[in-house]
Amino acid sequence: MGQVAQKGGQPQISLTNRNLEKDERDKRYHGFMQLALNIVILTFVFVFGAVIASFLNVLIYRIPLKLDFMRGFSFCPSCRHRLGPLDLVPIVSYLALGRACRYCHEPISPRYLVIELAGGLLALACWLAFIGPDLLATETPFLLANPRFLGAFAPIGAAVLYFFVLSLLLVISCIDADTMEIPDGLNIALALCGLLSILVGPELVWHSRLIGLFIISVPLFVIALIIPGAFGGGDVKLMAAAGILLGWQATLLACFIGIILGGAWGIFLLATHRKEAKGHFAFGPALCTGIAVALFFAPQIIQWYLGFF
Ligand SMILES: [Zn+2]
Repeated sequence: MGQVAQKGGQPQISLTNRNLEKDERDKRYHGFMQLALNIVILTFVFVFGAVIASFLNVLIYRIPLKLDFMRGFSFCPSCRHRLGPLDLVPIVSYLALGRACRYCHEPISPRYLVIELAGGLLALACWLAFIGPDLLATETPFLLANPRFLGAFAPIGAAVLYFFVLSLLLVISCIDADTMEIPDGLNIALALCGLLSILVGPELVWHSRLIGLFIISVPLFVIALIIPGAFGGGDVKLMAAAGILLGWQATLLACFIGIILGGAWGIFLLATHRKEAKGHFAFGPALCTGIAVALFFAPQIIQWYLGFF
């Protein structure tokens, strides 16, 4: 009997030990798989952003030339040679081709690379802001079994919408810098994003958006009438569209940031003799930066500011 008990007892202890070890190994394995999965997802998000941004490069080039941007092959702006799939891999092609066209060897503007990198980083920023670095730890994984399945789409919808807004701001900035004009279509698209944002940000009430529509655009319009050339019509429409998106407080903040950045840029241009005192420069990029900052950080910045009173 004693022998049996001894035989039965010892394996039991080592079995528990083995179970603990197995648990430990399982836990480490799951942690590793979770980390690997998150790295794969974040990489995918970055690549997705860079691919979209390479299309934004097409928009920036073609919209001012009134070329069809939905159809037609990509071509080298210098020699017009049609680009093959290997020439069109975001970021990689630019670096692999030695920053020059494969066919005519004309240098390619580094702006293409900067915009593709920016697209990737902005997509990551939107993902991290709304979904977070660990998809599995959030309460909103893409599981069909999740009873809050539809609710799970709210953060994803917000991330996609914000990325779309940032993409638009990037395109508006570059086109305004190139041509000193903001195409109406882009401002209309921004206004539509503002209306769509009611779905993902219902806490921003409609009357704040309505006041936002006028609070900066009307004063800018009046200034543009009194001092011709101070602001373009594109800037006025841009701030009206941003008002719908941001609500009135954040629109004031966006304009304030824009004026500071634009003023600093103007002083820089004057100091380095790149522009004469009467020369105009595009204000859109500064306003767009202000809108982007306000979009993400307005509540924190406004709270920080009110803390002084
Ligand atoms: Zn070429």
